[in-house]
Amino acid sequence: MLKKSKETGQLSSLGMYVHVPFCSTTCDFCAFYQERPSKKGFELFFSGLKREMDHFSPPHSFSTVFIGGGTPGLLGPEQIVRLGEIIHTQNIENLIEWSVEIAPSEITPDKLKNFKEIGVTRISLGVQTFNPQLMKELGRVHEVDRALSAYSLIREAGFSSVNIDLLFGAPGQSLEMWEEDLKRAVQLDPDHISTYCLTFEEDTALFVKLSEGKVKINPEKEATFYEKAWEFLPQHGYPQYEISNYAKPGKTCLHNINTWAMNDWIGYGPSAATQYQGVRRKNLANVEEWAKQWEQSEEGGFAEFEELQPHDLANDAVLFGLRMNQGIDLDEIGQKFKIDELYFAEIESFFHKLQAAGMMEKANTWKLTGKGRILADAIAKELPTEDNFSR
Ligand code: SF4
Repeated sequence: MLKKSKETGQLSSLGMYVHVPFCSTTCDFCAFYQERPSKKGFELFFSGLKREMDHFSPPHSFSTVFIGGGTPGLLGPEQIVRLGEIIHTQNIENLIEWSVEIAPSEITPDKLKNFKEIGVTRISLGVQTFNPQLMKELGRVHEVDRALSAYSLIREAGFSSVNIDLLFGAPGQSLEMWEEDLKRAVQLDPDHISTYCLTFEEDTALFVKLSEGKVKINPEKEATFYEKAWEFLPQHGYPQYEISNYAKPGKTCLHNINTWAMNDWIGYGPSAATQYQGVRRKNLANVEEWAKQWEQSEEGGFAEFEELQPHDLANDAVLFGLRMNQGIDLDEIGQKFKIDELYFAEIESFFHKLQAAGMMEKANTWKLTGKGRILADAIAKELPTEDNFSR
């Protein structure tokens, strides 16, 4: 399963991400590329995906697949089979995890059966909240009962791992409401729980409300929500393994861990991002333009394209690694990305300052303390990079 990357020399497992760009609703907080489903859109998507995979097919096996969106659960049973056939044209013989994101309102036994038959092992259910009023305010279309019955159907279908996504920091959400959501999630007994702080991305309805002063950001309140989950979930059988992620033993999301370790992944579909053999790029966020691009024999334009240096990858491995509870081993990252010692001397001296301020600790690895975790984003911004060593 482990292959050596040509450009960077690192050993890496390889992830596949597929972006299904359709959604029939618009949540206020949504910043993903998605379009209303249409016959023409589906046809463009499936034909474009087949061409993209034919054109850009790595010689070695993928270790994980993650289908996201949009809302992949919106695909009908036959479309799920078609998607599976396209993905099976790739080398997935050593696959260890295959996840799909589904919104509760889209789940049916037939769809679940087909997802299982194509090879999906893990379902990520976008519950967001169990509070009916909050659900409405977030622009979600499903009812609480629907989320509960969707969860039961997934369990009956027998997937080996189920994740529940919860969202916090929403306008009008109190700490008590958040604790209630955490309690209800735990009562369902999923394998994995992801908690997301609501973000105000540009071009979202929520961002417009923020600009108009109708909602406000409250960082102190957000910190208390984080702390509540950090305390509550591990006490209820869900050890934390990343700032926002909790799992029963053996049920972490391997696809995400691969990405955070800056191993390679290939993203297929409009707006999907790829990091492969020293290049990071993003597909066009328009199903028509993206599908057209793959009609040509040469790779066309990308929305973003960047050639990475080893220190870019090492820097991101440090940034994302610090969000993990296991912390980071700078020697290991240095060997993996073949980085000289100067880089780590600078980083280590920065870490010592954080340690003195009670934000980091060191045993076998460097880790953030609880105080440091609250400030993880600010710390990431201050982390020395090769470009700012001289400051
Ligand atoms: S369901 Fe997902 S893709 Fe659709 S609008 Fe909401 S967040 Fe965006």
